[in-house]
Amino acid sequence: LKSMLSRPDLLCEDTLVAGEWVKAADGKTFDVINPARGDVIARVPDLSVAEVEKAVAAADAARKPWAARAAKERANILRKWFDLMIKHQEDLAIIMTAEQGKPLTEARGEIAYGASFVEWFAEEAKRVYGETIPGHMADKRITVIKQPIGVAAGITPWNFPNAMIARKVAPALAAGCAFVIKPSELTPLSALAMAKLAQEAGVPDGLFSVITSTDAPAIGKAFCDIPAVRKLTFTGSTQVGRILLAQAADQVMKCSMELGGNAPFIVFDDADLDAAVEGAIACKFRNNGQTCVCANRIYVQAGVYDAFAAKFKVAVEALRVGDGMSEGITLGPLIEPKALTKVQEHLADALSKGGQILTGGKPHDLGGQFFEPTIVTNATKEMLVSTDETFGPFAPLFKFEDEDDVIALANDTIFGLASYFYAKDLSRVTKVAEALEYGIVGVNTGIISNEVAPFGGVKQSGLGREGSHHGIEDYLELKYICTGV
Ligand code: ADP
Repeated sequence: LKSMLSRPDLLCEDTLVAGEWVKAADGKTFDVINPARGDVIARVPDLSVAEVEKAVAAADAARKPWAARAAKERANILRKWFDLMIKHQEDLAIIMTAEQGKPLTEARGEIAYGASFVEWFAEEAKRVYGETIPGHMADKRITVIKQPIGVAAGITPWNFPNAMIARKVAPALAAGCAFVIKPSELTPLSALAMAKLAQEAGVPDGLFSVITSTDAPAIGKAFCDIPAVRKLTFTGSTQVGRILLAQAADQVMKCSMELGGNAPFIVFDDADLDAAVEGAIACKFRNNGQTCVCANRIYVQAGVYDAFAAKFKVAVEALRVGDGMSEGITLGPLIEPKALTKVQEHLADALSKGGQILTGGKPHDLGGQFFEPTIVTNATKEMLVSTDETFGPFAPLFKFEDEDDVIALANDTIFGLASYFYAKDLSRVTKVAEALEYGIVGVNTGIISNEVAPFGGVKQSGLGREGSHHGIEDYLELKYICTGV
């Protein structure tokens, strides 16, 4: 892997804690495995709670002088970090594909996407405006200022090893906070490469540390227990989100949660079917179905069901499965064996309840964690996939007749992250967009993530928003100052 990089030192096997590149105190390491080939590509330090304490202490010391700098100075350093990420986009993408499996073109896209948050929040650093409020009495003046919350800790998943970190760390540093991140143990290398570039950009020692560890529960608990940590931001499963929220209650810690989804993708009979197919492919199969905004349930109105299914089948059969490092591959492997098992469970359950395979339906001939992109027709709400996110290349097609029915079906879930629909009728578009109980609605598009818009869910999909001018608010506290004159 090193030989493929123009900057081999971006493949780090030490981690950045309190301003120094270190190994675990006890020398413990864990393997990072390429999911396409199954080989070990690096060994990184397996840290414990002692190192979290060290990282948080350094963060707490570094945050005050950082917050005291002019916003423009913080902005300039973040801007440099952005420039370095773009300059080394290819290396960062190669490292990502090696540890995560997504096709190299998608990895390049993710680096650009992750970097866009750094650029955006570098700009927003200068726009943390307060307000003045007319006093409630003649001799009182009221001002409101926004101040950084302090040390923030983050826990991120493996599906977007760069962007999930960028969109937390960038607003935190822009706001004047320090940050300690625990990346997924499956994809720590992208985090370490980002940390190396952050240091080069001039992020001060101790302000940003990376805790690589296989003991996620202990690290998460430590983040919640150490008093200097004032903010916890998590992206991952709803199940782990609930644990963290409960733990964070002890210190009444401010939390942001980007949790699971169960995205409906609705095709109405007035939709442009070709556009809907294109959107469904992008939205269902990006990252091999392993995103929290991937379509999980595809509802198609009865009058266009067969036509949509036929076109969708052609498009799915054009996808190419393989090692993401090879040219022309559109679907990589699943991240780990249990991810493959989950796809198989959802599929077997659907077939046992009347589902029919239109294409795909089994592990790919390549073996390992590769699975054929699969469409199942006759999906029903009794199937596991209607309540539980598959997180894999399995697309169930549900048939519906009526607009109100499909809205009710789409909303019949504990989740509320992303939703999508295709329609042309203007009043239908307005009505359905307003009726979907989701934080994000894609109308006639299957791609909704960008740095300028607020990303986040309602219901059990989470708390808070990332990206946009709202994204920095999660790292700020309001202070109201009442002055007697
Ligand atoms: P996924 O299913 O996407 O892997 P998880 O919620 O299991 O989602 O993992 C997301 C992140 O949460 C990873 O960094 C993982 O190490 C971490 N994690 C898993 N369990 C816990 C826990 N009990 N406490 C804190 N973090 C955890």
